[in-house]
Amino acid sequence: MQGFDYVVPRDHAAASVLLAASDGGIRPYQGGTDLLIRIRGGFVHPEKLVDLKGLPGMREIRLTDDGWLVVGAACTMNQVAAHPPAREHYDLFVQACNSVASYQLRNRATVGGNICNASPAADTAPALICLGAQAEIYGPDGLRRVPIEAFFTGPGKTVLRSGEFLISLHLPPSPLGAFGVFNKLGRTKIGDISIASVAVYSWPAEDRRREWRIALGAVGPTPLRALQAEAILNADTSPAGVQAAARATSEAARPIDDIRASARYRRAMVAVLARRGIEQILARAEGFR
Ligand SMILES: Cc1cc2nc3c(=O)[nH]c(=O)nc-3n(C[C@H](O)[C@H](O)[C@H](O)COP(=O)(O)OP(=O)(O)OC[C@H]3O[C@@H](n4cnc5c(N)ncnc54)[C@H](O)[C@@H]3O)c2cc1C
Repeated sequence: MQGFDYVVPRDHAAASVLLAASDGGIRPYQGGTDLLIRIRGGFVHPEKLVDLKGLPGMREIRLTDDGWLVVGAACTMNQVAAHPPAREHYDLFVQACNSVASYQLRNRATVGGNICNASPAADTAPALICLGAQAEIYGPDGLRRVPIEAFFTGPGKTVLRSGEFLISLHLPPSPLGAFGVFNKLGRTKIGDISIASVAVYSWPAEDRRREWRIALGAVGPTPLRALQAEAILNADTSPAGVQAAARATSEAARPIDDIRASARYRRAMVAVLARRGIEQILARAEGFR
């Protein structure tokens, strides 16, 4: 593996100055579970890694007075999964964190690294999209917030500009009675990168209806939202409506063939995962009537 310098910046401004000083040769570093593997594989050749984990707030999770969950970018998957307010109000996010790799890896892998790596298969992304999360970014021009849905611009690409880095994720208060389900398919039952994943999230609306969000992973250049499927379910959750929504979710996918699966298989599995997720939510909602 090639050598590199390891730098611990003293504050946000110093980190930003360091990161702005190069075009890809200086990289943010958190858990290293993506980055070190890419360096070892010879895919990236940074001369310097800037460790952001120790910056103030990067490892904190807190609930604000107005009910938002703020998750520091360097919080690990296990940290989120063990956090009582996250477990109580953002179970969909917790399910996604718990689906990543193994327990040991989740002690190291951070949510910020998962998002900034911008793999189309990043497992926390579909859940964060359904939950309406916002990315808080620090950079040469100060702070800015971007909806997580707009954060990804292509495989491995994000809206982050030179000198910018993710500092936290902000999740709005969960609507009363909201449930979510994250279903993922890998080559093995646990511990593998997704071949396809579907997050489904829903909460009660007027007239005994429910409002729906559906987002997909590993079946497009970025995580995707299945807007047409959501619209179908907002109007009709009969068995026919569920079938139609599952089909529409599959049609929203833009999969490719790769070493993990064919595009055709992925598209078929998206319909299955979507239908299961919708049915799981409807069954749970029925139990609450
Ligand atoms: C065996 C194995 C299994 C895995 N299984 C899964 C899986 O099931 N699901 C899944 O989604 N992922 C999986 N992964 C991928 C990986 O573990 C996750 O993406 C992890 O969350 C990355 O976090 P990290 O802190 O290790 O990121 P790092 O490796 O430190 O960084 C990842 C990328 O993000 C950039 N970055 C890091 N922090 C910031 C920041 N604050 N601001 C801007 N850029 C930043 C880095 O420069 C780098 O490009 C697996 C990896 C391994 C090795």
